[in-house]
This record gives sequence, C-alpha cells and structure tokens, in this order.
Amino acid sequence: MPDAEEHLGDETLTVLRFAFLAGALALAWPALAQERLAVVTTTTDLRSLTEAVGGEHVVVVSLVPPNMDAEEYQAKPQDVLRLRSARMLVRVGLDYDLWAERLLLQAGNSTIRRGGPGYVDASFGVTVLELRGMSVGPGDGHAHGSGNPHYWLDPKNAEIVTGTILETLSRLDPANAASYEANRAAFLARLQAKLADWDAKLAPLKAVPLVAYHNSWPYFARRFRLDFVAFIEIKPGVPPSPSHLAGIVRTMKERGVRIVVREPHEPKRDVDFVAGKAGAKVVTLAASVGALPQAGDYIALFDTNVAALIAAAQ
Ligand SMILES: [Zn+2]
Repeated sequence: MPDAEEHLGDETLTVLRFAFLAGALALAWPALAQERLAVVTTTTDLRSLTEAVGGEHVVVVSLVPPNMDAEEYQAKPQDVLRLRSARMLVRVGLDYDLWAERLLLQAGNSTIRRGGPGYVDASFGVTVLELRGMSVGPGDGHAHGSGNPHYWLDPKNAEIVTGTILETLSRLDPANAASYEANRAAFLARLQAKLADWDAKLAPLKAVPLVAYHNSWPYFARRFRLDFVAFIEIKPGVPPSPSHLAGIVRTMKERGVRIVVREPHEPKRDVDFVAGKAGAKVVTLAASVGALPQAGDYIALFDTNVAALIAAAQ
C-alpha cells in the first residue's frame, strides 16, 4: 500500500511542521499570544505605552531588552521570528532604531513594513529638538541628522505617542476601539496628575547645572527646566579623549556643576573621574523603562528619576 504510506508520510510531515511553527511561536511570544493582538516595539518605553493603551487585548514584546543601549542594539534571530508573526510594530524612529530596517526586510511581513497598516513610527507629530540638517553634529553622541531621538523622556510627548498608537490599534482591531480609547484616557489622567507632582518636586533643580554622559535628556530637561551644560560622550561607542574630559572638569568648576548623570549601561570610569575632579555627585538615571529595577513602567520611570535627582540635589 504505497499510497497510504505516502499519505501518512505527508501527514507526519505536516504535524512536524506545525509542531515546529508552534514551538517557534511559543519562543517568540508569551502565552496567550494567539488570542491577543501581537505587537512588537523596538524599545521598552514604547512597550509600556502600547500596553497602557492596549490593555488586555494586546501582547507586547520589546526587541531591545531592559538596560541595553537601544542605539547600539545587536539584533537576534528571534527578533525576525517575532516580527514575522506580529500584527503591529511600534518604533522610535528619528534614526534611533535604524537597525530595525534590516529586521523588517528579513521578516517580510507586509502588515508591519513601512507604510503597512500595522507600522507605527512613534515620532510622528512630535516636535523634534536639536535638528541639525544632514551634517554630523558635534559633541552630543548622535551621528545622524534627524534630531535628538529621546523624545519619550518628556511625559507630555506620551500624549502624542499614545494617540498614534490608539489610532493604529483601533484600525487593526475596531471591535475593541472603545476599550483602547478608555485605556488611553485613564492613562493620560494618571500621567497628568503625576506631571504636576514631578514638576513641583523638581522645582529646586530648576537652572541647576548638570553634566551627563550621553545626551539623552533634552526633552526631559525642557519639560522640567533643567540645565545640562556638557556631555562626556562625543561619539557613540568612542571613549572621550583626556582633553575632552579635562574640558568637562573645567566647565564643571566654572559653572558649579554638582551632579553628573549616568545611565546604568554607560561606562562608570569617565563619569567617576570628572565627578571626582570637580567634587560632584554621580546620579544614576533610567533613560528607558527597565533600565533600573524600580523603573518598571513609563510612569515609574519618571518617579524613579525624579526621586534620584532630588536625593542627589540635597
Ligand atoms: Zn541618544
């Protein structure tokens, strides 16, 4: 009975193939992914904001794990798998997550490619700071010309970003549009109350000069009227020269800088050096959700940073 054997063979193959796909999906997505709208974000901040709007109807994974430099991210094979089975992609844009371009090509998922119904560039509608045309900007660690990409660090920009996310979720999943709208409204109400609290708490730091390793902070600084006067890093991944460090120490002494801001993934040595020379404190801030254990979601990120800054200023 060669026919039956062949048929059985096909079936076994199909079962094996299914098992492989199911295994691959389980690897790419947490449990229950099949019943919820699968969203990939490039960063943990966008994951938190997407979860705030999507609530129980979405399952969201961030490609960059917590406490890694998203601007220097090395993609993993699993990332392509996740993108292949996603219905929505949310990215920072502004050249922050340029590495996602190649992954999107490899995934070949027309829903989430640029211009597809599930593609979200979260920078859409955001007022970009530090636009420089196409030249290489001096001294702030951003090699590209699209302006400073750290816009999520102004909590006000979460209104714009969640608005874009809401629009896309509602289009992809109209049955739950009312729920998405209610989730976003509740989140923005919480954020609004928090904003007043953060503003009041940071009042003593207004116009206090600060130095940071990487220039992640212009949006945060503008919102809360902080004053970053110099940056230790000149180019991403390039250690600062001794003369640049000496210049930073000089600036710190001239301007009376008492606080140096470092992110957990940044090298400690240069930060400690300038702080030691200028008699300043080092404060560790989270520029993204999960970079510090207490900064578990978007609102906790600001709670954590505000508390750390106040403690450093005392
Ligand atoms: Zn940056």
